[in-house]
Amino acid sequence: MSDDCIFCKMASGEIKPDIVHETDNVLAFRDLNPQAPTHVLLIPRQHIATLDELQEADQDLIGEIVLAATEVARNEGIAERGYRLIANHQADGGQTVFHIHFHLVGGRPMNWPPG
Ligand code: AMP
Ligand code: ZN
Repeated sequence: MSDDCIFCKMASGEIKPDIVHETDNVLAFRDLNPQAPTHVLLIPRQHIATLDELQEADQDLIGEIVLAATEVARNEGIAERGYRLIANHQADGGQTVFHIHFHLVGGRPMNWPPG
């Protein structure tokens, strides 16, 4: 846990987001500023600041997060139509919260290439 990390506060229950899925290791909640009809963030409860800090020992954790995303997508009714699963890294990637997270966005067609 990092003291000044908003996602750690969600993971510990100090701040209560709109949770859609949770396990011992993973938390999924609705984004405060949704960019699509479905916009859910999936985070590890454990504080990892950026993708670049991931270690081999985190492989199962990342697999768990991706599988959780597919489950949330099915629950949201977007699994068949499609969706996007995004992880932003550092400045060029557009990362603003430094606790790794995947954005699950769907419910409308997505553009490619991304802006
Ligand atoms: P990123 O820019 O990839 O780091 O994404 C951070 C995301 O966290 C943004 O989409 C924000 O809207 C979202 N966010 C920031 N604070 C909160 C919060 N308190 N509850 C839910 N989502 C948040
Ligand atoms: Zn954190």
